[in-house]
Formats: sequence, C-alpha cells, structure tokens
Amino acid sequence: MSYTPPDWWSLPFRGHSTPRWRIVRNAARCKKCDDVIESRYRHDFVYCKCGAIFVDGGHDYLRQGGDLAAIEDLHEVQEEPIEDPSSA
Ligand SMILES: [Zn+2]
Repeated sequence: MSYTPPDWWSLPFRGHSTPRWRIVRNAARCKKCDDVIESRYRHDFVYCKCGAIFVDGGHDYLRQGGDLAAIEDLHEVQEEPIEDPSSA
C-alpha cells in the first residue's frame, strides 16, 4: 500500500480513516517569509513569522491553513505496523 498525501484541513490520522500512517513530522514552509514551522504536539498551534500560514495537530492530525498558496507542505509519515484483525 502506498501513501497518498492528504488533502488538507483537519485531517485526522490516528484512530480515524487512515490509522495505518503515523505522522512523524507536521511541518510547513511559508513561501512569503521563508519560515519553517512545525507543530510538535496535539494542540501546538504555530504561525509563521509573517502570520500567513499555520500548522496544528502535532503528531495526531494534520491541520495546516491560512494562505493556501503560501504553504509548502513538509509533513512526513511512517507506515504504522498495525495488525489487520480481519486478516487473522
Ligand atoms: Zn510567513
């Protein structure tokens, strides 16, 4: 199974639609001020220097927003070794 990058905005990962993927980095770069911001925990809501974009959600869900044209997505995920109970 290959990873499909999410459409943005409040995408839950753990325990929701795509539990197979674990967020290891929830970050983005602002194309306006060149600031790289990273959300490190669930309610870590971070704006870039110029305030054009934000990231939120830490490693629990991906939430990025603001000026969508200014976002360069830098998030990273790892495949989570989840046993599928239906294949047992
Ligand atoms: Zn900025």
